[in-house]
Amino acid sequence: MTTLFNFLKKYALVILIAFCIGAFAGYKTLERLGIAALINSIPIPEGSIADKDAFVKTLPEGSTLVQKALSPVDRKAKNIILLIADGMSLSQVTSYRLLQGGPDERLSMDKFPISGIVLTHSADAIVTDSASSATAYSTGQKTNNGALGLDKNKEVLENLTEKIHDHGFVSSLISTSEITHATPAAFASHVDLRWKTDEISKQMMDSNVMTILGGGRHFFITEEMGGNREDGLNLMEQIKGSHTVLTKKEELSNFDTTNKGKVVGLFADEHLRDIERPDNHSSEPTTSEMLDFAINRSLDFNQNGCNGFFIMVEGSQVDWAGHANNVDYLVQEMKDFDDAVSMAHKFALENEDTLVIVTADHETGGLLIEPETPTNYTSPEVKFSFNTGIGYGSHTGVPVPVYAYGPGSENFTGTLDNTDIYYAMVEALDLETKSGSCVN
Ligand SMILES: [Zn+2]
Repeated sequence: MTTLFNFLKKYALVILIAFCIGAFAGYKTLERLGIAALINSIPIPEGSIADKDAFVKTLPEGSTLVQKALSPVDRKAKNIILLIADGMSLSQVTSYRLLQGGPDERLSMDKFPISGIVLTHSADAIVTDSASSATAYSTGQKTNNGALGLDKNKEVLENLTEKIHDHGFVSSLISTSEITHATPAAFASHVDLRWKTDEISKQMMDSNVMTILGGGRHFFITEEMGGNREDGLNLMEQIKGSHTVLTKKEELSNFDTTNKGKVVGLFADEHLRDIERPDNHSSEPTTSEMLDFAINRSLDFNQNGCNGFFIMVEGSQVDWAGHANNVDYLVQEMKDFDDAVSMAHKFALENEDTLVIVTADHETGGLLIEPETPTNYTSPEVKFSFNTGIGYGSHTGVPVPVYAYGPGSENFTGTLDNTDIYYAMVEALDLETKSGSCVN
């Protein structure tokens, strides 16, 4: 007995190591054979989205929102291009990247040196709509879902295009939806409900935004004329005195650059690339074509006395692809958007006084990227699935990414509230030393 005890004592370390190696080898063997067998033996239940595992919770009261501290920007930006893909979170970016060129593909937005996370809730909802989110970007204030340029008590908020106009900057708004849609509207109107398009279109035409491009002819003509206006006003006729109206993409390239008046481009009855209006598609510009026009026109304004420019570009239909639960539609719209991002980035690389920001207002569709079957991660096929509703998806409350390049981009990192984006844009510009409008 004593001999055995002495033997164990003498070789304790060796025995321990041998035991550990044995256990590890055994574990590895089990892992290879056992876990795969275990996973494969789990039955996959049949069911619909309504049957998914869900947890309905009431949120705690919570604390008050505090604006994020900004790093002072010494080298100020002259120009800002803000690109917003409606409904785009990381799963939309990732799906497009994978389907465009596989996992090692890099999109234009992937090439930006600065990125951050944006929290998107509105004043009255965890899940925002585009109106309140765009109001956060255009005014720095939270508002209720559905409201444009007004706070939650319906008080008018000064928006970015109004603020910088008084400091000699010129603004443009671009969208692939009708221009009266929530995102562009929040930068040029103050209306309590985004559906009041009669009012929104009038306010946008009265705003000091010099270039507005997108779809939406029907929102400028009466119902009798085949349009959508309920107030009976022929706004198309009325704006002929104040605006040059463009309706075909050729008019963008043929535009008389000595014309320094307001321009509105209405290239479709409602949104661009409407599948029910294929005959009109050949006269509709891409987002890049509209951005190219706005950049050149803005540079022209800069050469004629403006201190800088602001251009907001919305990839409106990324959101609609999410609502429609349609991944092919998503890829088409992400491509159109990312091409415009590429153009903006290239411009900023060549013009180092320009800040480019790429972000989104919220996620749409609850898009997931899964293995083709839940038990086979290495399957060559990947499943893209929308998880908020069958046939028609909704927005979700997950954060969205922000990417930035150029002077002032340092403030677009870490975790930001959507209202912080506004303050980071204002900090990037030199507004204090400049005053007075540069356009009529
Ligand atoms: Zn939406």
